[in-house]
Parts: sequence; structure tokens; C-alpha cells
Amino acid sequence: MNNPIDWLLGLFSLDIGIDLGTANTLVHVKNRGIVINEPSVVAIDISSRRRNKVKAIGSEAKEMVGRTPSHIVAIRPLQDGVISDFDVTEQMIHHFIGKVHGNRIGAARPRVVIGIPSGVTEVEKRAVRDAAISAGAREAGLVEEPMAAAIGAGLPVTESVGSMIVDIGGGTTEVAVISLGGIVVSRSIRVAGDEMNEDIINYARQKYNLLIGERMAERAKIDIGSAYPLERERTMILRGRNLITGLPEAVEVSSVEIREALSGSVQVIVDAVKATLDETPPELVADLMEYGIVLAGGGALLQGLAQRLQDETRMHVYVADNPLTAVVMGTGMILEKPEFYRETLTSMQRKSTIR
Ligand code: ADP
Ligand code: MG
Repeated sequence: MNNPIDWLLGLFSLDIGIDLGTANTLVHVKNRGIVINEPSVVAIDISSRRRNKVKAIGSEAKEMVGRTPSHIVAIRPLQDGVISDFDVTEQMIHHFIGKVHGNRIGAARPRVVIGIPSGVTEVEKRAVRDAAISAGAREAGLVEEPMAAAIGAGLPVTESVGSMIVDIGGGTTEVAVISLGGIVVSRSIRVAGDEMNEDIINYARQKYNLLIGERMAERAKIDIGSAYPLERERTMILRGRNLITGLPEAVEVSSVEIREALSGSVQVIVDAVKATLDETPPELVADLMEYGIVLAGGGALLQGLAQRLQDETRMHVYVADNPLTAVVMGTGMILEKPEFYRETLTSMQRKSTIR
């Protein structure tokens, strides 16, 4: 910073951090904060044989669902924590980088750090980096989402002290113990927010013969769902279609019922945390006993989940201050101090090294 030219260049450089989540994609730009927060959804024309089958991306794509002809379908290319469709993922990355970078003449080529689910393969990582470079990035680094979440949640990831992060997203829950800038033990399971919505849909069908939509289920989860008895149990109305009469119907359900519906998935998450603790080296377990476990991702907001985990693990469990934005804030922090966080990146590529 003592060189005024460097300082001036710093002002014009565009640093972009991206959280490529299974449910939501967030983009952080240095000095501007979070500029994009949209669903990781792409609307595709399945009747088209051409490459350009993508009709809309993000919020616009989600809006189209159910309102368009049946040959347009919405897909979530990262839903299972792996990249199910390279092409579409690439276009999604292009779209989001393009949206903030634009095609401004003379605009600095951005440095980009992308948080990716820890399950993605080397081939998939390469595809993500290439997509960022071809979208105009000068440098593209990748960081595993639990690492980014831990950084964003303010955990001392580069120190020789163990930290545990549990990131409960839409498609996957990732549990990781981090120390000295690396992931020491981790586990990724496909039980998270989406599965909880399914649980509620199944419950309504089995108990009330009521067919409800995914949005209704998600609302029930967010409003009255829980993982631990509530101080004041509540009720809400589920609206759907009676499977026997075929007619619309409204049923009142209680938070106790929704907790019962969610209990299987919650138990799977609890077990994943316990199993990861079992595999953690004893010195690091001692650190965790002192500093606790931090929850991130939208699923961390499920009422009583921290309490439930605390009971089951006998450790302190905290919810990150902003669980839904921890990963993208982490990518932004890496870009602020790239040398300090170098170790935390799983891979890095400069434009010049391509092919
Ligand atoms: P991802 O990182 O996989 O894109 P997010 O961290 O954005 O996922 O979390 C999305 C999930 O969090 C969704 O399943 C959503 O229903 C869930 N979620 C959001 N808010 C809450 C809440 N208050 N209670 C429970 N679940 C929530
Ligand atoms: Mg996430």
C-alpha cells in the first residue's frame, strides 16, 4: 500500500467472490458488498437441440417455473452438491460474473474466488475455473464451501486450533473440522433443507391425504419447523389438494407435528456431526470443547437445531451471525487478504496458464 500506483490500481481492481450454493448463488464485490443473491436455478428449453437452450437464470428462472409451456423446465445444476450439467453451470457462472463485470471498456479483469461444494471432482473444479476465466476473470481460485463458511463466520481457520463448521444448505450438509488453513476431517451428506421440505410434503400426504407444494412445505419449515421442543408450540394452516376428493383443502398442523416430520432428517444431520467428531484427532476435539461448533447455511436457522446439537454432542453450538451469507463473505475475505488465505484455496488458476 505504500506504493501510490498499487494503491490506485487497487481501487480499480474488481474482486468478485461467488458462493455457488445448491439453493442460492451469492456474489460479493469488493467495496460494494453482496450485489447478487438469487436462486441457483436455470430455466431450460428441453425441446431445443441447440446449445443455447438456457432461457433464464436465477430469480427470473425461478419465476418462470409453472408459468411457462411444459417444454421449459427449471433445473438446479448443483442440487446434489455435484455439478449435474457442466454446460448449464458454466452459463450460470458467466451470467453472474457478466452481471457485475459487464462489458465495460477498460474495466479491469476481475479476480474471482468461487466457493464450491466439497464433493466436486477435479474435472468439475476445472470446469468451474475455466468458466470463470472465459467469463473474463484474470485469476480464478476455488475454495471449498465449509472452509469459506468458516472464514465468513469469523473462525480462526489459519491458526493451529481446531474449528468445526456445520453448513446446512439446500441440497447438502457439510461438516468440517479445520485447522492451519486446511480441512482435517469432513463429511458431506445429501440431507439438508430440500430433504426437510420433502419430509413435510410426505407427512401431509400420509397423515392428511393432502398434497402440498414445495413452497408451502418450505414455509411450514421456516415458520413452525423445529429440532427441539419450543417454548410455545404453534400451529399453521397447510393448503393443498385432497388426494381422495381432488378438491382444495386447508389443514391446521402444529409445530409438534412438523418437528416429528423433520425428525428423521434432523437425526441424520446430528449423526453426521457425531461421526465427524469421532474421527477428529483428540487435540482438536479439545479445542472444539473449548470453542464450540458453529452452524452456517440456511438450515442453521431451523429453530432449536443448535440446542439439539448441543444436547447430543455436549459441546457449545452457535449459529453464525449471518448463516446465509457466511460463504460469500468468506470468499470476499479471501480476496481481501489473498496471501494470508492462500492455503485455504483448493486450486488456483491464472489466465496465462490456460492451455
Ligand atoms: P445453499 O448454500 O445450498 O445454496 P443456503 O445456505 O442458501 O443453501 O440455504 C438454503 C436452505 O435453507 C433452503 O433449504 C431453505 O429452505 C433453508 N432455510 C432458509 N431459512 C430457513 C429458516 N429460517 N429455517 C429453516 N430453514 C431455512
Ligand atoms: Mg451454501
